[in-house]
Amino acid sequence: MNARQFTSDTKRKFLPFVYLLTITGWGIYTLTHDYSWQALMLLVIGLMMVLRNYQLESRRIDEKIAGIAAHSITGVVILNQHQRIDFANKSFAKLIGYTRSQLNGENLTQYGFSTLNEALDKLGAKAHWKGEIKVTNRFGDHLTLDTHVTHYEMGVGMRDRYVVSFRDISRRARLENKLKNLAEKDPLTGCWNRRRFDKELARHATIADRYEASNTTLAIIDIDHFKQINDQHGHDVGDQVLKELGKLMQAQCRETDIVARVGGEEFAIIMPETNVRNAFEAIYRLKETIQSKSVLGITISSGITMINRSVEQSYRMADKALYRAKTLGRNRVCSAEREQVSRHHSEVEDLTVINNK
Ligand code: GH3
Ligand code: MG
Ligand code: MG
Repeated sequence: MNARQFTSDTKRKFLPFVYLLTITGWGIYTLTHDYSWQALMLLVIGLMMVLRNYQLESRRIDEKIAGIAAHSITGVVILNQHQRIDFANKSFAKLIGYTRSQLNGENLTQYGFSTLNEALDKLGAKAHWKGEIKVTNRFGDHLTLDTHVTHYEMGVGMRDRYVVSFRDISRRARLENKLKNLAEKDPLTGCWNRRRFDKELARHATIADRYEASNTTLAIIDIDHFKQINDQHGHDVGDQVLKELGKLMQAQCRETDIVARVGGEEFAIIMPETNVRNAFEAIYRLKETIQSKSVLGITISSGITMINRSVEQSYRMADKALYRAKTLGRNRVCSAEREQVSRHHSEVEDLTVINNK
């Protein structure tokens, strides 16, 4: 704020007080001296002038901001102190798919702007907030909005307001997301790559550390005797198998699962909110599906474990379980936490099932 702004701000805030004090002082002086009705009238008129001054000033500021915002290509809304819309410009109405009269008096939360309201709650006087907000508009478009909020403290007797501007950066955000995904996807199978897997595993290990418990399971999956597939049918067929297997895993897993190709013919799945027993059953089903669908007689082995606070230890435990599955004869699922799955599909039962086939 420069010196001139400060002077005009100060004037705006304190001039009504000077008015009030002068007229009240004069009124009181006259009252105490001759108790005349003119003095009383003077007081009332003085008070009315001050009130009117506040009203006009408040409206003038609203009109000024609204005038600037009306034709802006940026979406602009003015919210009152209750965070309800006092003014929305055409661009904002168009952006979220409602008419300006529909928006008038409404709270932005009902249009999916709850992040904004949370930010406003924490915003002190005169403070500024900026961030990216993701909302879905009336037409179902997912928007990313570069948002700036300024909280205007209007002075004694005047309503505070928030001026919020929204710039639609959805196209840029989509492009960035696409590029980020490309950098983290395995081009052959469409699964997440090792880099993304490492990040996700670290994130879940941190969660396990923070809450001193975990409900996320890690499964490492390795194709059995894959070298033979390459040797017998050629590398291109081998690639095709990897591709189809990747697709099948993604199709069979939950949307919240992270399916990654972590090595040549090795995959890993992170299953959030899934205990070892349920994860075991899911991977067991996956193993059965792969076996039943494969023309080339492809089978997989898998080792699973609950993710703990250590990334290295979690991976090592799943890998050890996988190694056990291989040494027990392949085409099976082994858990690092054996006791938790023994009642359902113990590895011995698993072996029996497979041997009987
Ligand atoms: P195991 O049951 O012990 O896992 O036997 P395996 O033959 O699957 O294991 P091994 O580690 O001996 O061989 C893995 C093979 O996977 C060797 C390699 O040629 C093949 N492979 C790795 N990456 C690719 C790939 O991108 N495409 C193809 N076609 N083959 C791959
Ligand atoms: Mg293998
Ligand atoms: Mg391998």
